[in-house]
Amino acid sequence: MTKLAIQAPPVVTLPIASSEEMFPVRRVYCIGRNYAAHALEMGHDPDREPPFFFQKNPNNLDTTGEFPYPPKTSDVHYEIEMAVALKTGGHNIAVADALNHVFGYALSLDMTRRDLQGEQKKAGRPWEIGKAFERSAPIGPIHTVESVGHLDSGRVELKVNDEVKQEGDLNQMIWKVPEMISYLSDYFEMAAGDVILSGTPSGVGPIVKGDVMQVSVEGLGSMRIPVV
Ligand code: MN
Repeated sequence: MTKLAIQAPPVVTLPIASSEEMFPVRRVYCIGRNYAAHALEMGHDPDREPPFFFQKNPNNLDTTGEFPYPPKTSDVHYEIEMAVALKTGGHNIAVADALNHVFGYALSLDMTRRDLQGEQKKAGRPWEIGKAFERSAPIGPIHTVESVGHLDSGRVELKVNDEVKQEGDLNQMIWKVPEMISYLSDYFEMAAGDVILSGTPSGVGPIVKGDVMQVSVEGLGSMRIPVV
């Protein structure tokens, strides 16, 4: 048996809707600019260029139902996204086979320190300090494929204090879920426990302490997340 020199970090697990079981997380991939209107609002050409990805850390996922305003920023933005959880993986997964690897889907947020991300973009540096901070990815329970099927359309909506800020439809994704899985698998060994955040529609913007974010994706329910 392996003798650990320090205490082992805990395995990050996510709740599964209507189940006692938990979903263990291995990696978190996030796609950038996957809705044309959001690419435009960020100053980019929405044409179908190859997708690009960044990662968050498994323990950035947060299921507490609250978002603590993070340090070292004065411009934190919400981005509502659908999370895709994998039950199996592999290399060079064909688009036609990709959905067979999906365990389920969840409602999630890719919270972003936009000011820090902007500085990093300008300097041509990686985005970690803008994206992969503590509790930067609030996420709801995973809904299994058995219970909700595969979601390729459905309304996506984020409100702040009851005002609609983001709205779109899953069918507006530039890169669809099977394409994202296939593309990632050409570059990485995908595996059980991987989670993919599938991009945000337009309308991103800042929140402040005291705001309440209300997010919903048709088929995945809704969440109410106060900023504390
Ligand atoms: Mn995002």
